[in-house]
Amino acid sequence: MLLKSLEIQGFKTFPDKTTLKFDRGITAVVGPNGSGKSNISDAVRWVLGEQSTRTLRCTRMEDVIFNGTPARKPQGYAEVTLTIDNSDRRLDFDGDTVAITRRYYRSGDSEYLINKVAVRLRDINELFMDTGLGRDGYSIIGQGKIDSIVGARSEDRREIFEEAAGISRFRYRKEESERRLSQAEENLLRLRDILSELE
Ligand code: ATP
Repeated sequence: MLLKSLEIQGFKTFPDKTTLKFDRGITAVVGPNGSGKSNISDAVRWVLGEQSTRTLRCTRMEDVIFNGTPARKPQGYAEVTLTIDNSDRRLDFDGDTVAITRRYYRSGDSEYLINKVAVRLRDINELFMDTGLGRDGYSIIGQGKIDSIVGARSEDRREIFEEAAGISRFRYRKEESERRLSQAEENLLRLRDILSELE
């Protein structure tokens, strides 16, 4: 799977629309301290559905929106689009290019899009499941991540191997089915109560 480009607008240090194009091979981002290098990887995490403000290095989700400088007004919303070359069909999506967009407004409203079509966060999570690239994937190795993997409980470490082995999807489906089953059992119980009252 190849990342083609990242488009950032109104996100952290990027008030204007900024497009980064990725070629094959290694791309390095260099710049002075505090210039916004890590904000680029935050943008990738964010567009993939990251919900943890701590992981995004802020206190509230609103903090990802450009908050202004003495010379520039704050922006009203943040938008990031990650475009992926899917010609190898690594993603379960019928298209050579997949563009994921996340938009977040100061009002708290948010939107997710796949190729400009509105979707749920759940659709984004399912699309990237078992690819290693999703929100909980191992493709983004941040500072301290190696230490946390080495020091993690074995059950937590197992999740990383499950994602790599491509079985996270099955665990997710099993949990979904168990949830639905217990809901159906509750409904049956309620139905039996009503029936016994009627008899
Ligand atoms: P270092 O090399 O020190 O790790 P860096 O280049 O990775 O730095 P980042 O951590 O990406 O830098 O960016 C930090 C900068 O982003 C800070 O100057 C901070 O003020 C700015 N910043 C963070 N959130 C916002 C926001 N919502 N609006 C404007 N600027 C922001």
